[in-house]
Amino acid sequence: IWLPIGLLMSVLIALVLLRVLHRLQSPRAQLQDAIHSREITVFYQPIVALGNGRMVGAEALARWQQKDGSWLAPDSFIPLAQHSGLIPQLTHLVVETVFETLGPWLQRHPEHHISINLEPSDLLNPALPALLARLLELWQLSPSQIALEITERGFADPAVSGPAIATLREAGHAIYIDDFGTGYCSLSYLQNLDVDIIKIDKSFVDALEFKTVTPHIIEMAKALRLAMVAEGIETEGQLQWLTRYGVEYGQGWLYSKALPAEEFVRWAENNLRGA
Ligand code: C2E
Ligand code: MG
Ligand code: MG
Ligand code: MG
Repeated sequence: IWLPIGLLMSVLIALVLLRVLHRLQSPRAQLQDAIHSREITVFYQPIVALGNGRMVGAEALARWQQKDGSWLAPDSFIPLAQHSGLIPQLTHLVVETVFETLGPWLQRHPEHHISINLEPSDLLNPALPALLARLLELWQLSPSQIALEITERGFADPAVSGPAIATLREAGHAIYIDDFGTGYCSLSYLQNLDVDIIKIDKSFVDALEFKTVTPHIIEMAKALRLAMVAEGIETEGQLQWLTRYGVEYGQGWLYSKALPAEEFVRWAENNLRGA
């Protein structure tokens, strides 16, 4: 009788030890595990034409599902990924997830796009253009359906970013400057950049009441003949102000938060039906 009880006890102790060890894992190991086991997934926030509220595309935003079912926002794990060299794996997962979950939807909507956030270090990864090309071919999608968002930091060293960005644009991807206005890009500097769209950072949309810098940022984009997407639109007042100043596109809680893929598809179908 004691033998089976002893065995059972050892198994139980082993299980408890495993759990404790898991808790003791370094943050890097936890993130790596989460990437491999796909606890990190992608939500989608609609981007609309401000004039008529019709969706033109969506931004892919990474989310980490916790054991208790809650979702962790990227600001809390992107920096960890940066410091621990996990950006290539994270970006790979996000790109694959976008195609796997929205490939069929994108096939049905050839005029719509998904934009994916890249880190400056992604531009140094030669495997990324190849991955994008392979998945576009596999799903029979146009490169114009996948846009790439890069923050101003990504343009800081043109000798590094220039060729990588040129490769992506030549492949047919639109390049967005993300969080525009928060970095150090000057007008003269921007003139020489190969980009398609400027995303006006949420902080400038929040500060609309003060109307000091935001008009200058908008004028800058217009002078460069670049289309604009305003981030973080929450109120009707912000929407009216942005439209008056000629900002064409936007995203924000006024329209929708970032949604899980299935909910996003429902939202999009309703929006496109004009509901
Ligand atoms: P971002 O690219 O500037 O994305 C916009 C952020 O603003 C998102 O935060 C979005 O949820 C939030 N937002 C949009 N509309 C509103 C609004 O009306 N009100 C408020 N309060 N917030 C709004 P999120 O998803 O937490 O992402 C934060 C940042 O993390 C992103 O900023 C992006 O830089 C980065 N990020 C997200 N996903 C990825 C990813 O897959 N890869 C990389 N490298 N970075 C990512
Ligand atoms: Mg972005
Ligand atoms: Mg942004
Ligand atoms: Mg941002």
